[in-house]
Amino acid sequence: MLLAFSSFSPKSEHIMSDDGYIKFACNLVPAKSPDFHSIDRLNQWRTRLHEFGLIGVYPDGVGFGNVSLRSTNDQFIISGTATGGLHLLSNHHYVLVESFNLLKNSLTCSGTIKASSESLTHGAIYQANSKIMYILHVHHLGLWETYLHRLPTTPLNVTYGTPEMAYALANLVKQSDHNPSTIVMGGHREGVIVCGEKLDETGNKLVALYRSIQ
Ligand SMILES: [Zn+2]
Repeated sequence: MLLAFSSFSPKSEHIMSDDGYIKFACNLVPAKSPDFHSIDRLNQWRTRLHEFGLIGVYPDGVGFGNVSLRSTNDQFIISGTATGGLHLLSNHHYVLVESFNLLKNSLTCSGTIKASSESLTHGAIYQANSKIMYILHVHHLGLWETYLHRLPTTPLNVTYGTPEMAYALANLVKQSDHNPSTIVMGGHREGVIVCGEKLDETGNKLVALYRSIQ
């Protein structure tokens, strides 16, 4: 159900940010957090990525990096907003994204924490390729610079958090016959995504990439 991005025309009721894009809107429905078992293995990988510095927090206090798994259809469980700086997460730091709208840059989630502001990036990928079950999104300048345009890369002029980024990512994962797939986010400096069908393969691919630049 990917929408026609070429006919994208923001409507007046949407909140526009300074650069003219619709601001991310997260509607949180208070509910129980996803149960621990559902996120346990993903969370172990997330801890490992945090230890590599691929998930973390910048000196200005802004966190980076997030992980998710497909729940059912286009629903997914993702790490919550502002969790990048935390070494260990519990299930309370994860939330179920129940529905999302790429053009409106909005989503509805249920749990005890708002979804990561990069959740629509994940949603676009799940929507574009039904085989993808796990997405790991990390930030690393060396990784990003090394593999920019050497691996599938979204256009440099397409910035994070826009419908165009979602569209660009969707195109790349649709075209890719690699599993897991790696995507460099050209317009999202330091941003790299590895997504795949099996968690360990996906995580190991990311670690191998990271080790390749050490
Ligand atoms: Zn990012």
